[in-house]
Amino acid sequence: MLDLDHPMSRFIVAVAREDDAILSIARRMTLVSTEAKRELLESANPHFTRMRELQREGWGESTEQTAAIVLLKQQLTHLAEIPSENDFYPYRQGKNCTVCSRPIENLKDYPDMVYCHACIAKIDSGREAVDEAFGLFAI
Ligand SMILES: [Zn+2]
Repeated sequence: MLDLDHPMSRFIVAVAREDDAILSIARRMTLVSTEAKRELLESANPHFTRMRELQREGWGESTEQTAAIVLLKQQLTHLAEIPSENDFYPYRQGKNCTVCSRPIENLKDYPDMVYCHACIAKIDSGREAVDEAFGLFAI
């Protein structure tokens, strides 16, 4: 559990908030066309910038943290660049993803979490690296 009185906690919570925002953007990317993904990628930039600022304020320069942010950004950029004809936003469950042919599904009990579970995996290792580097697993 995260100790809320610990001086680093506010930084960890703030980084987690940016990470969540990036994940939401990535999920939405799995539902839309290449062109729409480009716009979503732009909208992710302020979240990466804020994450870097929080890193400098909270931890100073850390090679591991910088590398984790860079990796996540590269993976999101890659996800955005994969040609897609998906037109599933707002959510269209039961359709098949035009990128990987797998069904667009929702997470059980979370109707607002519909996305392509196979395509989202392309940012998994970047998200894990950010989790590790910033201790987000403590939340
Ligand atoms: Zn897919």
